[in-house]
Amino acid sequence: MQTVLVAGGAGFIGSHLCKKLLTQEYKVICVDNLVTGSKDNLKNLREDKNFTFLEKDIIYPLGQDINADYIFHLASPASPNKKSPRSYINHPLETLLANSLGTYNLLELAKKTSAKFLYVSSSEVYGDPAVSPQKEDYFGNVNPNGVRSVYDEGKRFGEAITMNYVREYGLNARIIRIFNTYGPMMQPDDGRVVSNFITQAISKQPLTVYGNGQQTRSFCFVDDMVDGLILAMFSDKTKGEVLNLGNPDERKILEFASLIKKLTGSSSEIVFEDLPTDDPKERKPDIAKAEELIGWQPKVSIEQGLEKTVQYFKSVV
Ligand code: UDP
Repeated sequence: MQTVLVAGGAGFIGSHLCKKLLTQEYKVICVDNLVTGSKDNLKNLREDKNFTFLEKDIIYPLGQDINADYIFHLASPASPNKKSPRSYINHPLETLLANSLGTYNLLELAKKTSAKFLYVSSSEVYGDPAVSPQKEDYFGNVNPNGVRSVYDEGKRFGEAITMNYVREYGLNARIIRIFNTYGPMMQPDDGRVVSNFITQAISKQPLTVYGNGQQTRSFCFVDDMVDGLILAMFSDKTKGEVLNLGNPDERKILEFASLIKKLTGSSSEIVFEDLPTDDPKERKPDIAKAEELIGWQPKVSIEQGLEKTVQYFKSVV
């Protein structure tokens, strides 16, 4: 049986990934420091004999005894919302170090154990993009030292060091830039637009649109994202490649608020609040490369995915 290490496995996407890998007969070692992840996400997994949870911080080497055939690196805060206790704005140094020192430590482990490696980067490497949709060969438009830079530049450094291990040591590594992803198990206090709007709508609070709501995002359901991450890791065609994964179905945030109101049957009003600094105006993945290399495209429509997500939040809020 092969072993997969998932760094950040107690997070939203990481826990879905661990669950899927266990159904595919892998041994899973989940590593998380629980800064933004949660043990609750692992509730049903911990009974599985093939699952191990290690509460460790990847900014320190993980130890001599760890062996893995595959290493996924998803360990980083990811929410930009300063109102959320889990956001990278409130964990700036942890974010910079998880993506720099943390990536270095995991790459060294991959080199030592000859593991295949997948670095989870982000659409944030494109910053506030001057082109749309964003293709992998676009270099981005990033503020190198603003409040979002701890994440954006952290991810850009993570990409640089990962690609260096491919070039210098021939490591079998790939970089996946994930675009906005949502679904059950998102933390209600994560501060992301999907969790905020749904929790606001079902608890009869106003929906908080930042800015005028004309900015766009493209939302991918978590099951599609996990399928893409697994396909990308287990394909040799992706070695040394950078791939976007996301759903190209682009929506304006104001229209998205109305859609959530409709799907939840909510009569909450929509209120407008200040736009966060350096908030990207548009974001839409070009996924032609993922379609070509790994035959992946998202299957779940935004309406279907939101239906499941709303049901989940109704059960926890
Ligand atoms: N947003 C919003 N209301 C909220 C939370 C977010 O209007 O309560 C906006 C945010 O300013 C951004 C978009 O929704 O334009 C997506 O924000 P999110 O934090 O989900 O992720 P991002 O794509 O910015 O990383």
